[in-house]
Amino acid sequence: MPVTDRMLIGAIASNPGRYDGAGEARYCRDCETIYFASAKDPATEHGGHQFVLLPALNPDGSGRLAAIFQEFIKRWPAERQEQLETFARRKGWDLAMELHYGGGALTDEETEEWQQVVQGELQRLLAEARQLIGP
Ligand SMILES: [Zn+2]
Repeated sequence: MPVTDRMLIGAIASNPGRYDGAGEARYCRDCETIYFASAKDPATEHGGHQFVLLPALNPDGSGRLAAIFQEFIKRWPAERQEQLETFARRKGWDLAMELHYGGGALTDEETEEWQQVVQGELQRLLAEARQLIGP
């Protein structure tokens, strides 16, 4: 069964992108499936198979999503940006971009706006993955 966009987006969103750490998401050409492999758990069932590395929304330790967030909030009023920077200095950017209910800094409206950016980025990475996988 070919992989769906939904499956690919799920893998991209949760891809740690580190073989020597929590693992990396791959697409196996032979099995036409998505799997995770790491130094600790090398997924030997796909040994010798051809694979492509899937993109990662936020690779472990990269701060990639936080960087996109910091760029994104520049469209908000300076005062709000300062509040978020102060929050991030104390609790980190990973938490600052979360909804306030979950201990984050964002209101419902802000979260909605931010989620649209995240979804857009996931769609972009999905297209990239589709390109890598091919027809
Ligand atoms: Zn395989």
